[in-house]
Amino acid sequence: MITRSDVLTQGKQRLRDHSPSESPYLDALLLLSHTLKLSKEALLTSLEKPIWEVDALSFGKLLRLREKGLPIAYITRRKEFYGLEFFVDERVLIPRPDTEILVETALEIGRDLSPLAILDLCTGSGCIGISLKHSLPHADVSLADISDDALAVATLNARNILESELKVLKTDLFDSIDSTYDMIVTNPPYLTDSECDSKELKARSEPDIALRSGHDGFTHIRKIIGSAYKALNPGGHLLIEGGFDQAKKTRELMIGSGYADVAIIKDLGGNDRVVMGRRA
Ligand code: GLN
Repeated sequence: MITRSDVLTQGKQRLRDHSPSESPYLDALLLLSHTLKLSKEALLTSLEKPIWEVDALSFGKLLRLREKGLPIAYITRRKEFYGLEFFVDERVLIPRPDTEILVETALEIGRDLSPLAILDLCTGSGCIGISLKHSLPHADVSLADISDDALAVATLNARNILESELKVLKTDLFDSIDSTYDMIVTNPPYLTDSECDSKELKARSEPDIALRSGHDGFTHIRKIIGSAYKALNPGGHLLIEGGFDQAKKTRELMIGSGYADVAIIKDLGGNDRVVMGRRA
């Protein structure tokens, strides 16, 4: 008799030896619980049960996808972010834990503001704007992206998580934005062309359009800083997430464009992550 525990051990070994996974046991556990439609906890307390051959075969197929480099979130089609469960697929970037600090910073600023119009630019899965709306029901949140595919995913997530619709705007950065906001939050593409061309990144299958930002990784950040000022109400805040090594330059660019109170905020890993400033 083959047990759940047996296939879990085999799966862990396969991922350890043949995949880019840094957490082969956890990955195998997540894939097996997805196969069996059980929570991790339910699986862990029933490891000695036998497994049907059909389930072992399905699990094997998922392991093969992970071996090819596909991230777990694309295989299971979900990712937890800020305590909420988002649907994800290859149309959108997978939400990163790094980005939770952007949400926390925005919440601190937004909690006492009313009215509060927020724009989540380059929204992707919608994780930032939807998390903000979830914690700040009084806020008027709009989600914007250049990609119809991303907006479809963001709309689905808003419906599932908030059980209501949010405004969605198809726009190339600020080109089609004519409203003004009290807060603009954004996790734009910020990788360099050479980072995007690496084999490991390609194997992840994340949309290039969500990552690539020119030879120095600043194409989007530069444009956003330039255009956001006039899209902010007086006193309104711009919060940008970038790479840990981009924060100082981002701060200089914001100061150069006239923003006040420009500050860098570190993520939970201690890396510079978010740069924020205020329209005077
Ligand atoms: N932090 C992401 C990565 O390392 C990049 C996200 C982005 O470009 N917005 O892959």
